[in-house]
Amino acid sequence: MQILKDIISWKNFQPKLINKNLGFVPTMGNLHKGHGALIQHCIDSNDLSVVSIFVNPTQFNKAEDFQSYPKTLNEDIKLLESLGVDFLFLPDEDTIYNDSFTYKVSFENDSAKIMEDLHRPGHFTGVLTIVMKLLNIIKPQNCYLGEKDYQQLNLIKGMVKAFYMDTNIIGCDTIREEGGLAFSSRNNRLSNIERKLAEKVATIFHNTQINDREKYEQISALGVEIEYLENHYNRKFIAFKIGNVRLIDNFDYKTQEIKCKNS
Ligand code: AMP
Repeated sequence: MQILKDIISWKNFQPKLINKNLGFVPTMGNLHKGHGALIQHCIDSNDLSVVSIFVNPTQFNKAEDFQSYPKTLNEDIKLLESLGVDFLFLPDEDTIYNDSFTYKVSFENDSAKIMEDLHRPGHFTGVLTIVMKLLNIIKPQNCYLGEKDYQQLNLIKGMVKAFYMDTNIIGCDTIREEGGLAFSSRNNRLSNIERKLAEKVATIFHNTQINDREKYEQISALGVEIEYLENHYNRKFIAFKIGNVRLIDNFDYKTQEIKCKNS
């Protein structure tokens, strides 16, 4: 695996990429099996694969969340090498924000001003701006993103369409732990007791036999704070807090109901 820390090094490789399909997975590192599945899908579907690791400061609402974001670069590199990734793009903040975040990608669609956008003001401006920059640098044919962050996936698809960008955005299934909790870098911050609680929330949230009011009541009865539990795009979404850890999840409830009926 080639590790590239600046844009010039990446540009030097570009002549070798002509007539090759390039797949890209942007991440913030601290890689887990959810990232692994996206990366495997990217490797299987393209001639060459690029993964980026960049903890993007502009998408954090709270400075302490950015400062405390887990960094496990050595383990991440081992995982990427074992999967057979071709390139790791590892830029620093000065390279990415050479404009000091003067130029930003924003959106004015009221129907997108829900859930994460309401609870994390400015978060998606940071996300869209970093993804625009990374896609313009890497110029991949295909970019793989998780449905775990469904609202983010939708907004990135919208941005790519609005700005006529030459990348296909491909959404991939959410990968879950055995207990049903979606893999997330934030899970590592849960104590054993908190993790059990988070698994209980996941079980209640995914239970298709109960309605949203019952879900709300049962989760609240565990002492867990729900930020939102809403339905959009035929999917059910939740954000909840256990201690200082904020977790999100969503699923396609039509498909889930059919699966349950057939099982
Ligand atoms: P992050 O490193 O958290 O920015 O995530 C990088 C990519 O991995 C995003 O496209 C996420 O949606 C995706 N991702 C995160 N968790 C999961 C998961 N449990 N299953 C599938 N994809 C995920």
